[in-house]
Amino acid sequence: MRVRTTLLDDSNRLRLETVDLPDNGSEGALVRVLYGGICGTDLHLLAGHDTKPRPLSIGHEFVGEIVELPGAPRTIDGRPVAVGDRVVVEPGFSCGDCDYCRRHGALMNLCMGRRCHGLESLDGDVPLLGGLSEYVRLSPAVHVQRIPDELPTARAALSEPLAVAVRAAERALASGRPDVNVGPSLGATAAVIGLGPIGLCVAVTLARLGATVVGLDVEPARVALAGRLGIDAGAVQDGQGDAPAALLALTNGLGADVVVECAGAPSAFALAFDLVRRGGRIVVLGHFYSAGSIEFDPVVVCRNDLEVVGSALGPREAYPKAAMLLSRADIPWDVLVRTTFPLSNVTDAFELAARRTKGKILVGPGE
Ligand SMILES: [Zn+2]
Ligand SMILES: [Zn+2]
Repeated sequence: MRVRTTLLDDSNRLRLETVDLPDNGSEGALVRVLYGGICGTDLHLLAGHDTKPRPLSIGHEFVGEIVELPGAPRTIDGRPVAVGDRVVVEPGFSCGDCDYCRRHGALMNLCMGRRCHGLESLDGDVPLLGGLSEYVRLSPAVHVQRIPDELPTARAALSEPLAVAVRAAERALASGRPDVNVGPSLGATAAVIGLGPIGLCVAVTLARLGATVVGLDVEPARVALAGRLGIDAGAVQDGQGDAPAALLALTNGLGADVVVECAGAPSAFALAFDLVRRGGRIVVLGHFYSAGSIEFDPVVVCRNDLEVVGSALGPREAYPKAAMLLSRADIPWDVLVRTTFPLSNVTDAFELAARRTKGKILVGPGE
C-alpha cells in the first residue's frame, strides 16, 4: 500500500511524499488519519534543534478511524475498539525493558528506548510513519482510545497535547509543600508563560484544578486567544508588561505560587524566576528540545527555596482525563482548533504554525 506522508528531508525541508506503508509486522492497527496536529516540537524539528536522522516522518498528535485490526489493540482505558471506530492515538511507547520501565513503571516517559510515531526516521529497522499521513500502521505496542461519540473529531485531536498539559498542571499543583501553600488549593496562583496550544491547555487545566491563572505571551494574538478561552492574560516583552504587573498586584507583590514555562524560549525560563514567589515552584515544560541557553545564577534557587521541576510528555493515564476535559461543553475548545488544512497543503499549514499567531493548526486528509 502506498500512502502520502509528510517528511523532513536531510536539509530539513518539508515535503509531502508517497511511500510504501511500513507494515510493522502487520500486527498493529491500520488507521486512516482524520486529523494530525502541528506541535511546537515539529517546529523545533524543522529548525534542526534535534539530532534525529532524516528523513523524519513527522506528526505525533493524531486521531483516526480504524480500518484494519489484525490483532487485539492495546487500549488506554481498557475499553475495546473495533473497525470503524474513531480513536485517539498515544503515539509513543516504551521499551518495557529498561530500568525506568522495569523498576519504575510509573516513569515510562523516561524510558531509554522510547519510540514514537512522528519522531522517527523512516530509514530505521522498523520504520514508523508519523501522523501527518493518509494512513498509519500503528506499532503493536501503541495504545489507542475510542473517541466518545459526543466529542467532535477535530477537538479530539487536542488529546495528545492536552495529556502533556494535564501532566504538567498536576505536577504544578502537586502537594508536598503545604508550608508554602503550593498545592491543589483554591488559593494557588499560577502563571503560565507561553500561550501556544500547550500553554493554553495548561492554563485551562490549572483553572479547572482551582488555580487563579495569569497567562503571559509576547504575541498579542495569543493573549487574545487566551482571553477567548476565559484565561486572564497579558503581554510581556523583555520581562516587562501588563501581565507581570498584574500578577504582582494579584499576589501582594509576592509572585505566583507556581509558574509553568510553556514557551520553549530560554528567556521564558529566565522570566519564570522573576514571577515565582519565594518557596514557589517552576515547572519547565516548553524545553523538550534545546532552543539555546542563558546565563544563570543558581543563588536564586537556593535563597528563594525554590522547586524547579521538569515535565516531559503525557503519561497514559492523562489521556482519559484529556478526553473528559475535551468533552466539557463549557470550555470553548473550538477557539483553539479552528484552523485546518488538507494534507496536500501541509507546507502552508506549517508556515502558518510558524507564525505562532493561531491556536492548534490541524492537517486533515482533504483531497
Ligand atoms: Zn506535541
Ligand atoms: Zn524502557
